[in-house]
Amino acid sequence: MSDFVYLDWNATAQIEPDVTRYFADALQRLDANPHSQHRRGREASVAVEKCREQLAEILAVRTKQVRFTSGATESNAWVMSHFKDREGAIVGSTIEHPAVGAWLDETLPVDEHGVVSLEALEIRLQQGGVSLVSVMAANNETGVIQPVDSIYALCQQYEVPYHCDAAQVFNRVDWAGRADFITLSGHKMGAPIGVGALVLNTELQPLLKGGSQERGGRAGTVNAPIIDTWNYVLSQIKPMSGERQQRFEKQLMEKTSAQIIGQSANRLPNTTLALFDVPGDLIVMALDMKGIAVSTGSACSSASSKDSFVLEAMGMNGKPVRFSWGHRTQLEQSIPIILETIQELEKTCAW
Ligand code: PLP
Repeated sequence: MSDFVYLDWNATAQIEPDVTRYFADALQRLDANPHSQHRRGREASVAVEKCREQLAEILAVRTKQVRFTSGATESNAWVMSHFKDREGAIVGSTIEHPAVGAWLDETLPVDEHGVVSLEALEIRLQQGGVSLVSVMAANNETGVIQPVDSIYALCQQYEVPYHCDAAQVFNRVDWAGRADFITLSGHKMGAPIGVGALVLNTELQPLLKGGSQERGGRAGTVNAPIIDTWNYVLSQIKPMSGERQQRFEKQLMEKTSAQIIGQSANRLPNTTLALFDVPGDLIVMALDMKGIAVSTGSACSSASSKDSFVLEAMGMNGKPVRFSWGHRTQLEQSIPIILETIQELEKTCAW
């Protein structure tokens, strides 16, 4: 085992060595502006279009629906800023990532398992005055998968557009959700940080104005090397089995005070969020000293001393620990150290 085990995949997936090599090569190979007309420019443009085609195939949409961005935050902001300028409320769940949550006018509750209430959504849609519904595909803290197809069906029934932040599902589960707007993030599935996409059903006013890139939707030089590397990663993505998660959680529950959050919900097979008799930040620090990287819920809020808003929305409180891993992560080998560390802390610092 290397002396470092990375269990923080939902913050950003670890870049595998073959991806690093591919990216280094792409930086040299695709060093021209894909909008330039000369041969080098055309080569960069071909690489960009190949990735667009692969994304369109994965999502079963037309290539012109796929627009590249710098990541999920930008894709979300693009949709949200468009609808913010329109009449009506932007309605989303209480557990949306802050990149969506910051834009919401109204929120819909989730149940104790962390699943958005379809009943509340329907009641709100019946009342009218909703410009956009935004509910994520899977929550980044709990890993709980949301009923995207039912949400889309309801939105279609009430003729309200639906946006789905699907940053966390790819390379974890086979996801075939449908929505009018879908947000993707490259680095959550193993590409370098700094690339994402928005899949759209209708044109939106641009967030970044100026040049005509991305069909006039997003000005700025298109980043061919990173998009080409994302394309390489996309050709390898696959669903994970839930066996490792089950074995890990069984041991956590047998040997520590762990309360697994959202345990009986349909969850991502790479994510375990747990509350212990010890505050999560102590466990994060203790594991870090032993070479195991985990986090207290979302990376965005880990600097804050507040409890997780996702847990609060589920009717709980406390500082949990999120373990999240990738296909090649040495999870099994780190389990004894994780158990031992938490047991030690539970003996000395229980609150
Ligand atoms: N949406 C979700 C569900 C996320 O988990 C994250 C990152 O944690 C983001 C959006 C922001 O993604 P990005 O870093 O690609 O901007």
